[in-house]
Amino acid sequence: MKELICIVCPVGCHLHVDDKNNITGNQCPRGLKYGLEEITHPSRTITTTVRTTSPLMPRLPVKTSSPIPKELMFQIMDRIGAEIVTKNVKMNDVIIENILDTHIDIIATRALNMLES
Ligand code: SF4
Repeated sequence: MKELICIVCPVGCHLHVDDKNNITGNQCPRGLKYGLEEITHPSRTITTTVRTTSPLMPRLPVKTSSPIPKELMFQIMDRIGAEIVTKNVKMNDVIIENILDTHIDIIATRALNMLES
């Protein structure tokens, strides 16, 4: 029996997964979906920042365009850590396209104006 905490909403239901991947403890169907995904192919949306050359805004907030496989988390963070933004950016601009061939982009979650930021 495995135990998981559902992170889909603030209730945080304790999910129990038996040897046949039957899930109990969820108070709604979203917990069942979360539990099945978590035991078959866990994934996470990354929210973080990238370096910029702007002295007034040295870090630009970014996120993955969709959840990434959990096992790639550290490799993706390393790649994001190597990026430096040197030009103006609009919110939702792609900062890193198709990161690590995942077909997932790293996108800006706010604008950066190198002259005004
Ligand atoms: S199972 Fe439903 S109610 Fe419980 S934490 Fe998940 S989303 Fe929230």
